[in-house]
Amino acid sequence: MPYASRPRADAVISTPELSVDEDAIRANARYFTRLTRGRLMAVLKADAFGHGPVASAVVEEGATSLGVASIDEALALRRSGVDVPVLSWLNPIGADFLSAVSERVDLGVASADALHATVRAAHRLGRRARLHLHADLGMTRDGAPASEWRSLCELARTAERQGHVQIVGIMGHMSCADRPDHPQNLRERLRFDAAVRSARHRGLAPAVTHLAATAATITGVGGDHDLHRIGAGLYGIDPSRTSRELRFALALRAPVISARRVGADVGVGYGARFTTDRPTHLALLPLGYADGLPRAASHRAEVFVRGRRRPIVGLISMDMAVIDTGDDVLNPGETVTIFGPGDQGEPTVADWARWSDTIEHEIVTRIGARVSRVTRRTHIERTPE
Ligand SMILES: *Cc1c(COP(=O)(O)O)cnc(C)c1O
Repeated sequence: MPYASRPRADAVISTPELSVDEDAIRANARYFTRLTRGRLMAVLKADAFGHGPVASAVVEEGATSLGVASIDEALALRRSGVDVPVLSWLNPIGADFLSAVSERVDLGVASADALHATVRAAHRLGRRARLHLHADLGMTRDGAPASEWRSLCELARTAERQGHVQIVGIMGHMSCADRPDHPQNLRERLRFDAAVRSARHRGLAPAVTHLAATAATITGVGGDHDLHRIGAGLYGIDPSRTSRELRFALALRAPVISARRVGADVGVGYGARFTTDRPTHLALLPLGYADGLPRAASHRAEVFVRGRRRPIVGLISMDMAVIDTGDDVLNPGETVTIFGPGDQGEPTVADWARWSDTIEHEIVTRIGARVSRVTRRTHIERTPE
């Protein structure tokens, strides 16, 4: 769904709408630019965690490079006119390395096979691929296992000598940085230092080393490196729950479809899993789990309307949810806030994560394609595109 910039309108919305507060993202980016002393790699994977086109905004606020999970995401950033370094770190062996190398996309490499794929592409194009070797430090996930690190560095050095690649970076990722006193943090830091030493010992001279993401940067457990890969924090999510500086950037709203009065002992939704315990008013919202309201949040979640929170009742369906508004009789078309920054008492993404037994990241990245998106600036209105 394309993003549009529209003047702010708190009034009537005609369809469910996800509004992205670009100024919140800018303020978060400025915070991390300061905190990292200008060493910010803004992580824009998964459509900027569901926030859409924010690359130029974060670059304006100090990000010196961008990070994504896939080559396709990196190429999309290049097509949008982004000129700063872009790193893609999770690249299947059959990925489009030719386009990546020709578009100057930096590539994360964690295996000899991946290294060879980049060498082939570079060889065909007659130019050097820019690589970041990725060391596993204890996550046991996407980095190169310690047992393969040395040979990977040696192969990379050989390819570099032959003119096919340039090892511009060494990267690692921490598994427990949201808990600063977890013993794993020190182990992983030491392993990263050892991996960097080992790479240098084999003749590599990476210009940048980078380890910390949002939590490790905020808590400091990642130490001091040349780049900090910040994703969640840009969008107001602090996995360590220690910063007071960050601001959520998303607000999800929907218009009421209809409202009705019901008596006591009336079942609501599939399975009649909720039954009214008194006469009340119900209102129907055109948002369900296909739109990103986790079904697991049924019986716990709340929304915000007319200045107060109201519970979702019954199971959240694919396309809709029902709320109990007590004595309030909502009007069709009236706007209900599902979540927002929390300033007015509305639920936040953190509330929805708690109600769904998940993390904020999952809530913001799973808003469905049929929800319309608008990007807003709270202070400076952009003219409609
Ligand atoms: C997603 C990701 C990041 C960003 O992490 P946040 O905690 O969202 O800041 C950094 N590095 C890698 C390898 C990632 O996959």
